[in-house]
Amino acid sequence: MSGPGDCEKCEELLQGFLDRELTEVEHVEAELHLGDCDYCRRRYSFEVSLRRYVKLSAAERMPPGLMERLTQLRSTDASL
Ligand SMILES: [Zn+2]
Repeated sequence: MSGPGDCEKCEELLQGFLDRELTEVEHVEAELHLGDCDYCRRRYSFEVSLRRYVKLSAAERMPPGLMERLTQLRSTDASL
């Protein structure tokens, strides 16, 4: 039951999903959409690994240019 408008809403849901601030209903909606939408699933797994990586490297100093590279990766992924 996903249409072209769904991903806009999912954009909001994904952010909450990643930050664990969703209500139970929203959480279910997000999971349903992720199961149904390749684009958002890819985005979601990218965001998860990005966050994990940032968390890990937060303990150390971030090498110069890393944030730039991550940003490039991010825009590359979004354009697929
Ligand atoms: Zn979507």
